[in-house]
Amino acid sequence: MTVREVVERVQEILDVIPPHVTLQAAVKGRSPIEVNAVIEAGVTQIGENYVQEAVSMIELIGEKASWHMIGHLQRNKTKPAIKLFDMIETVDSWRLAKDIEKHCAEEGKIMPVLIEINSGYEATKTGVLPENVDGLIENMSTLQHLQVKGLMTMGPRFGDPEDSRPYFKVTRQTFERLEARQIPGVEMKYLSMGMSNNYLIAIEEGANIIRIGTRLFGTREE
Ligand SMILES: *Cc1c(COP(=O)(O)O)cnc(C)c1O
Repeated sequence: MTVREVVERVQEILDVIPPHVTLQAAVKGRSPIEVNAVIEAGVTQIGENYVQEAVSMIELIGEKASWHMIGHLQRNKTKPAIKLFDMIETVDSWRLAKDIEKHCAEEGKIMPVLIEINSGYEATKTGVLPENVDGLIENMSTLQHLQVKGLMTMGPRFGDPEDSRPYFKVTRQTFERLEARQIPGVEMKYLSMGMSNNYLIAIEEGANIIRIGTRLFGTREE
């Protein structure tokens, strides 16, 4: 896809999504030129899956956008990750939370995080099951250098976007349940869900961050 096409794709999406929803560009495997193009077109938030890729990308592009970690964070990458990212969307264990806490304390940084929910109850997927999230968040609320700001989910992949709705609904219900509990130090502000083929459904179900890759950049060569 050419830079002009990428810019058009961004504009098409920005035109249809409500103003309270943030369009995040999911940029795994894309070039700095492509990433720059979406930023020029008005994207303010970039999602990265890999710490290694983020290092060079952020070096080149820097502060023009905010940087969210949306891939599974390996514990041996936590230290560089907390230096690079403005938010980590994929916290799903107490071990990882404690590790983020430790490195943030060393850096004197407070990291906003989302909890990743395994809304499809998929054995092979990362994320916390909806019924296990309360305990994790209660523990996390005691950490000084990490702030829970909401939830993120992927959900199973389907051809028909409508099939994703139950998984978004479950995540939204979990979000609202946690919001109502008003756990001190925990804020339910961001609900990150919806990708290229189902972001409109996700917005209907309450998403305020949508993470879009293919629809902006075309299919990836893998
Ligand atoms: C790749 C990716 C996306 C974007 O997926 P597309 O279908 O390409 O829009 C969103 N979220 C995560 C975590 C991803 O890895």
